[in-house]
Amino acid sequence: MKINENYSRLKDSYLFSEIAHRVQKFSAAHPDREILKMGIGDVTLPLAPAVVEAMRSAAEEMGRAETFRGYGPEQGYPFLREAIRDYYRSFGVAVSADEIFVSDGAKSDLGNILDLFDADNTVLIPDPVYPVYVDTNVMAGRRILFAEATEQNGFLPMPDKSVSADIIYLCSPNNPTGAAYSVGQLRQWVDYAKKCGALILYDAAYESFVAERGLARSIYEVEGAKECAIEFCSFSKTAGFTGTRCGYTVVPSDLIREGASLQKMWLRRQTTKFNGVSYIVQRGAQAAFSEEGRKQISKNLSVYRNNAAIICSALDRLHIWYTGGKNSPYVWLKCPGYADSFSFFDDLLEKTGVVGTPGSGFGKNGQGFFRLTAFAQEETVRKAMAEFERIFS
Ligand code: PLP
Repeated sequence: MKINENYSRLKDSYLFSEIAHRVQKFSAAHPDREILKMGIGDVTLPLAPAVVEAMRSAAEEMGRAETFRGYGPEQGYPFLREAIRDYYRSFGVAVSADEIFVSDGAKSDLGNILDLFDADNTVLIPDPVYPVYVDTNVMAGRRILFAEATEQNGFLPMPDKSVSADIIYLCSPNNPTGAAYSVGQLRQWVDYAKKCGALILYDAAYESFVAERGLARSIYEVEGAKECAIEFCSFSKTAGFTGTRCGYTVVPSDLIREGASLQKMWLRRQTTKFNGVSYIVQRGAQAAFSEEGRKQISKNLSVYRNNAAIICSALDRLHIWYTGGKNSPYVWLKCPGYADSFSFFDDLLEKTGVVGTPGSGFGKNGQGFFRLTAFAQEETVRKAMAEFERIFS
């Protein structure tokens, strides 16, 4: 028996445990000090009542012989796939229900999709970014190149003609930088991918935060993207499903590589290795698209948006450089007067009790930057930003 040696090449994922450890140490030394948590990218508001009601009623159906359901379709019930299709249609994107695959979240699909591709592919991944893209490819032993996201390009790297890749990851609005591509910028990526025959894996987990006109909610807003891109999305940040678990992936029927349909391959992969998302959860996800559900969810999103606006206006007043915030729950700031993200983390915690996420945990270009999240109570955000103003004015 031989193990997968690639696992030994993974870097320790110590970021959030290290943060927890430092906060714990600080709290133990200063039990009277308030901790203002603006670090973890998890939602804080509860599920919308329409979602809860739909899940309650689905649970009751499961308890009656006449309406009980066993295994469902692995790729999701038609009622949810059609609701997702209609959601895309609401912002002008045509995808068919057959191209939509429901899952227990974007993270699983982002890892599982790699089953479809040979290990001998070169992968291009933005730096900094959500660490799952790098780790899943390290596990498979693929060669990884990085697209440099920097202050100079607004943390939105564009294609470099001198670089050739087979698989390209894009995340917009981005975690951790909050930067979001315009449709025009994505068109350049689509043109580049088509030229080099590459496949784009587009992570749209934060699309519901896009507020500005001209910015993309889906890569399929670019004509021809269905021939070169798979899109991943999630109910986690849109509808507060981080603990409920539901997401979806769009694999267009136009995606053909080496004569094989990637949609058919993904269907085969899912029907072989996955047994679908619980009926109850899928009914909850469907309710997120109902009129009532949409209203309730947009109320929650505006709480987070308002928090982001509070963060941004404090940073504006302090002339601290940042990206994100307007179209994202994340604000990515340049550590004022610090070259090292963890030194800034320590000093900020010591002086103010504010906990954020050191940017260096998301890639080398994150060094010197810091992520604050709007997934917090407004009172916490106001207190945290008042502390920023007290310290950095
Ligand atoms: N993609 C990005 C960019 C994320 O930040 C996250 C979670 O933080 C995910 C995907 C995972 O989403 P899910 O909860 O649907 O697995």
